[in-house]
Formats: sequence, C-alpha cells, structure tokens
Amino acid sequence: MPRPSGSPGNLVVLNWAGFQGAVSYTFDDSNSSQIQNYDQLNALDVPFTFYLQTGKSESNNPVWQRAVADGHELGNHTKSHSSNDSGADTDAATQFIESKFGVKVWTMAAPNGSSVYGNIARTRFLINRGVANALIGPNDSTDPFNLPCYIPPTGASTAMFDDQVTSARSANKWRTVLVHGFTGGSDGAYQPVQLRAFLDHVQHTKALGDVWIDSVVNIGAYWRGQKTLSSVTPTTSGSDRTWRWTLPAHFPPGKYLRVKVSGGTLKQGGRTLQWNDHGYYEIALDEGSLTLSP
Ligand SMILES: [Zn+2]
Repeated sequence: MPRPSGSPGNLVVLNWAGFQGAVSYTFDDSNSSQIQNYDQLNALDVPFTFYLQTGKSESNNPVWQRAVADGHELGNHTKSHSSNDSGADTDAATQFIESKFGVKVWTMAAPNGSSVYGNIARTRFLINRGVANALIGPNDSTDPFNLPCYIPPTGASTAMFDDQVTSARSANKWRTVLVHGFTGGSDGAYQPVQLRAFLDHVQHTKALGDVWIDSVVNIGAYWRGQKTLSSVTPTTSGSDRTWRWTLPAHFPPGKYLRVKVSGGTLKQGGRTLQWNDHGYYEIALDEGSLTLSP
C-alpha cells in the first residue's frame, strides 16, 4: 500500500495489528500431558501461554525453560490453586517462575476462575484470565482482570475448536482458549482433549492466514495499548497535533501499535516514523507520545 498523502489527520489504530481477529492458546496447571507433548505443540511454531501451578512438581520440569527459549509465555496460576488467596500464594508463584526461569511474569490465570483474583491481579499484572467464554473486542469494556476464555469439553473435536476461532475472526475479535491437557496424561487434567484434534485445529487457524496467534501478554498488550491511545484527545500546537499517554500499570516494555493516518508525518521523540508498505506506521508505546505534522 502506498504511503497516505492526504491532509494530516484521522489517526486510526489497526485492530489486532491488521489481522482479521486474534487467538491466544493457554495451558493451565503444569499438567504432565502438556510436558509429554511439548515437542509437538512447539512444532506448531506459534507462541503459547503456559500458566504454571508452581506447587506441583511438574513445574520443576526443564521443559519450561525450553518454552521460554522457544518464545512462549510463562504465566502465574498460583502455587496452590486455591479459590481463595491473600495474594501470598500468587506472589509465591511469581517468585518461583521469575527466579527459576529468568523471566518476568506479566499475566495470570485465576484458579477455578475465582473472583478473588481480580483485585490481586490488578495490583500485580497486566491481565488475569478467567474461565467464562466470550469474545474480546477492540476498545471494548471487557474486564482485563477477568478475561474470558473458551474451555473445550472432554474430547472436543477439531471442528469445535475451529468454530471458536472462525466466529472470533468474523467478528474481528479476540478469543482465548484454555486447554488443560491431552488424553493419556497421568495427573487427571480437567476435560482433556485428543492431541491430534488440537494440533489439526491450530494448523487450520494458521492456514486462514489472517488470524493473529500469540500469547496473552502479546495480544493483551496490543489490546490494552490500543485502548489507551484511543482514549487520548490530542493537543494542538501550530500545525502539530500531539497524543500523550500513560500506559496501564504492569505494562510490558517494548510493545508497539500499528496505526494509519490520512496524511502527514508522524514522529516520536523527534524521529520520523517510516511507512510500512503493508499499510501502517509502527509506534512505540514506551515513547508515551506521538506527533502528527504536515
Ligand atoms: Zn487450574
């Protein structure tokens, strides 16, 4: 696409970075069948989010260090998986993950979807994933501290998974999916599914070619970053317009949004942004401001 050459204005953030929709696949409880099948999951070559229950011995498995190296997210599913917590059990899981695997924890998943974790997450994380199914829309009022997700029934078919993604895509929204484990595991994963059904589904999603598949932290940062920028009223100085924002608490560094304008020159920190021929400018959320000039 050619660089827009109209009059400066009409700043628009591309929904889901320009994809038709988005999906995040999450795995809870550090279950053995996730570990046993890690190589096949990783071979799909898409980033996943693994929510570790750190009190389980499986959380010591070296597979999680590989998951970090392979670009997957490790998130917090608490140490003890209780429906109640003062925050200490959540913090114990963060400490375990950060010290053992050398990553920062940005998101959590509430054990049993318990509502007590809404306020615990608000003071610690970017997002808390819940357990009720719904779609998440650009700039909508979905609670980031009780983010919806789809939990497949036992033995869910590939077609059942596919339906969840195609409906998200046709609505231009984001779906998160929670798989507890696969048939054949040794630790009683909740509602396990056949590995083959899941692998085939992810291949179908990839083949669509226009669905953003990424971790909860990556898509979540885009979703919350877009909401932040979209809520800003720019200030005018001469012929320049400037948007200034403050990122939400517990926001990961190094995140970007893709935007369009009808024309003009976009700058951040005095640096002119380059137009990407795929149809966008990429803006750094860390900069905290964006200026549009003639
Ligand atoms: Zn769980």
